[in-house]
Amino acid sequence: MKKNILTGIRPTGNLHLGHYFGAGQNWLKLQDDEQYDFHLEIADVQALTDHFDDPAMVRKNVYELATDLLSIGLNPKKVHLYIQSQIPEIAELTVFYSNLVTMARLYRNPTVKTEIKQKKELFGNEGESVTYGFVGYPVSQAADITAFDGELIPVGDDQLPLIEQCREIVRKFNSIYGVTLKEPEPLLSPTPRIKGLDGNDKMGKSLGNAIYLVDDEETIHKKVMNAITDPDKIKKDDPANPEICMVYYYHKLIKNPNLETVCEECKKGHRGCVQCKKELITKMNEFLEPIREKKKYYDTHPEEVKEILQEGTNHARGKAKETITKVKKAMQIDY
Ligand code: ATP
Ligand code: MG
Repeated sequence: MKKNILTGIRPTGNLHLGHYFGAGQNWLKLQDDEQYDFHLEIADVQALTDHFDDPAMVRKNVYELATDLLSIGLNPKKVHLYIQSQIPEIAELTVFYSNLVTMARLYRNPTVKTEIKQKKELFGNEGESVTYGFVGYPVSQAADITAFDGELIPVGDDQLPLIEQCREIVRKFNSIYGVTLKEPEPLLSPTPRIKGLDGNDKMGKSLGNAIYLVDDEETIHKKVMNAITDPDKIKKDDPANPEICMVYYYHKLIKNPNLETVCEECKKGHRGCVQCKKELITKMNEFLEPIREKKKYYDTHPEEVKEILQEGTNHARGKAKETITKVKKAMQIDY
C-alpha cells in the first residue's frame, strides 16, 4: 500500500519563491518517489474564507496556479492536481470535525493569530472582518488532509500549527468514534520559511512582498532594485553585513555559485549594492527563464490544463468517497 502525500495551496495569486523553496522543492523530489501517492490541492474553498467577495479572482487563480505548478516541473502523471471545491466530501468532513474543536483552541492557533493580526494591520481594526469561516479554516484543512488519508504533509513551517491541530482532531475523532483516521506528519524543506523582499519573516501573496516565478525581467529589475540592504551601508565602499541584506539572502537562496565572493566583497566594502543587485537580477532571470518558458506553453494550451485538473479531481473524489464512507460508518450516520 502506498502512503498518501497531501499538500495544498490557495489560489490567491501566482507561485512565489517562498512556495518554491519553502515547500515546492520537496514536492518535486517526492513526485518521483514510488512509495507515495501524491495529492496536491488547489484550495479554492479556503481562498474564499477571506476572499469570499471576490470569486472571479479566486477562479482566475485556480488556472493560474495550476499552470504555475506545471511550469515548475510537477508532472500530472505523478501528482493528482485537483480543485478542493469539486470534492464535496471535504465540506462534509469539515462539518463533522467542527464539533471536535473549541473556539478558544482555534483562536489560539499561532498561524491563525498571526494572519488575523496581519489582516488588521492591512485593512484596519475591524474585528467583524474576521469571519467564522476564516477562524475555522484549520478544521477544513484537517478535512483536506484526512479525506485522502494524508500521512506525509510537505509544507512551509507556517503550516506546522495547522498540522498539529489536525492531529488533535484526528485523535479526538478516533477516541470517540473508534480508530478511523490517520495522524499526519509534516515534512519541512531545508529552507522552511522564506523571507519577503521587505525583510518580513515570511514572503506571502497577501503581504505584497513576493518575487513571483512568472515575474518578467522588468518586474524582477524593479523588485530587486528596491530590496532592503544593510541600512548602515551609505557609500559604495562602506563595509556591510550581508546577513541583514535581502539581496545577499536571495543570492544564497538561488544558489549563486559566486556566493562566497559576494559575501567577502560585501564585508570588505569592495562591492557596491547596485552592482550586487544587478548580479542578482541576472542570476534570478537565469533561474526563472525555464519556468517562464514552460508557463508560456501551458498558457497557450488551456484545454490541456483543464483536462489535467479534471483527471486529478476525478481521482481525488474517488479517494475522498472511500474516506467519507468509513467516517459515516464510525459516526453511525450511514443510513
Ligand atoms: P496567502 O497569503 O494567500 O496565504 P501564501 O503565500 O501564504 O498565500 P499559501 O497558499 O498559504 O501561500 O501556502 C502554500 C504553501 O507554501 C504552504 O505549504 C506554505 O507553508 C508554503 N509557503 C508559503 N509561503 C512560504 C514562505 N514564505 N516560506 C516557506 N513556505 C511558504
Ligand atoms: Mg498562507
